[in-house]
Amino acid sequence: MSETAQTYRNYIGGEWVAAADGRTTENRDPATGALLGHFPRSSQVDVDRAVAAAKTAFEGWRRTPAPKRGEILYRVGALLAERKEEIARILTSEMGKVLVEARGDVQEAIDMAYYMAGEGRRLFGAVVPSELPNKAAYGVRDPLGVIACVTPWNFPTAIPSWKSMAALIAGNTVVLKPATDTPHSALKLVEAFADVGLPPGVLNLVMGSGSEVGMPLVQHPDVAGISFTGSSEVGREVNVEAARAFKRVTLELGGKNAILVMDDADLDLAVEGILWSAFGTTGQRCTACSRLIVQKGVRRELEERLVERARALRLGHGLDEQTQVGPLINTGQRERVHSYMQVARDEGARILAGGEMATEGDLTKGAFYTPTLLTDVKPGMRVAQEEIFGPVLSIIEVETLDEAIAVNNDTRYGLSSAIFTRDVNSAQVAMRDLTTGIVYINAGTIGAEIQLPFGGTRGTGNGHREAGLGALEFFTEWKAIYVDYSGRLQRAQIDA
Ligand code: NAP
Ligand code: MG
Repeated sequence: MSETAQTYRNYIGGEWVAAADGRTTENRDPATGALLGHFPRSSQVDVDRAVAAAKTAFEGWRRTPAPKRGEILYRVGALLAERKEEIARILTSEMGKVLVEARGDVQEAIDMAYYMAGEGRRLFGAVVPSELPNKAAYGVRDPLGVIACVTPWNFPTAIPSWKSMAALIAGNTVVLKPATDTPHSALKLVEAFADVGLPPGVLNLVMGSGSEVGMPLVQHPDVAGISFTGSSEVGREVNVEAARAFKRVTLELGGKNAILVMDDADLDLAVEGILWSAFGTTGQRCTACSRLIVQKGVRRELEERLVERARALRLGHGLDEQTQVGPLINTGQRERVHSYMQVARDEGARILAGGEMATEGDLTKGAFYTPTLLTDVKPGMRVAQEEIFGPVLSIIEVETLDEAIAVNNDTRYGLSSAIFTRDVNSAQVAMRDLTTGIVYINAGTIGAEIQLPFGGTRGTGNGHREAGLGALEFFTEWKAIYVDYSGRLQRAQIDA
């Protein structure tokens, strides 16, 4: 049977164009292997064109009043809301997450559009007193110039929108390179901007691989800043390259997030929070819970309940409303996840549930993996330290709250953590002492809202935050302005 599918194009300088040399890559459904479309496999020439278009558009865009830039974002938000279902279905088909989560992914883009649109009327600077008479002092935010956004496949609409909308409202122009596995969701986002009349060149889309498009963008002399989300390995390379040219770079990398469950917790609630955080998005969220740090008194009961519930989760195509867990992003990722089962056994952990590829019926056509619980895990084991990025939860027993917090904090990552407890004092101690960028009380490790800073400590990134006010810190340069209206030379620090 021969498969046919549509061919899609890049968006450069306000035009939909094929890759310069005409090459394409297949986009396939991870649940079935079905061909979904052909997308450009771009190269240096396309990168050069897109950066040139963004550079040309920068002067006009930076001088466009920020509230006017905001009006464009409002219109994009409204259009995305209209197209939410269509985009969510495309997203599920190419990425695999279940439809309710895909709708949430698109909703994040809508929320961010409205939030950043509002920033168009704020973009708060600072007005401070001068130490000298008849002199004004204030700080304003300037855009950087051309920003490269390089994004992963796990939030195919949300992450490109977080980056591009924050960059654009501040007056930057953008070249977006989405993950090879999920080009269509990014295209739908860019299409919304095109359809509301964003000026040509302000936002450009170049699809293709990390080596042929991602790295050339990072290295391009006319790119002023890079916003990257992805793996630690690639993030390090991006950071090193950016450093050579003193470019600003924000990195959002992996996580090894934990839920702490204390003896006094509401276990019904904890079970729901754990299942949602560990197996939602098939464990492929940067904030997914991959460690359960449980106090001794409730370990047995919690394990029993989790085993029963994990085994009952329905795997299937994300478009089927009955499905609770979709496939992994591709079969390569499934191999990687499965390889950790041997790692776990070798180190003395036990598989309580799952631990295998799904073998029933249609599930063999896709990258499905059974929801997995590992127990007898010790804090230093590889399955307690390395990001697996799949439906695998490592259970670690502890005696006390202090020990639970210490175990939580002892990893190279620091994105999110959560605690289930009914003791207000324990909750306060946790809020004070958990050293992740995000902390949840009586909720799972996932579910960030766009109006607060998003990001993590340690190896999760390089200290910047996305979303909320944090985003503007990265996408703007402070310019300090002194206006002396005394009519004479006044010397700061010298003329008292
Ligand atoms: P990845 O392989 O690092 O890819 C991320 C992006 O970088 C993709 O667009 C990729 O292109 C591109 N890329 C690959 N090699 C590159 C290179 N040498 N130079 C420049 N760009 C390059 O990560 P992934 O597998 O897509 O995503 C999974 C990872 O992302 C996980 O580790 C997860 O924790 C992390 N993540 C973190 C957050 C967060 O906010 N902390 C959020 C989501 C995901 P191709 O697609 O063509 O390879
Ligand atoms: Mg990749």
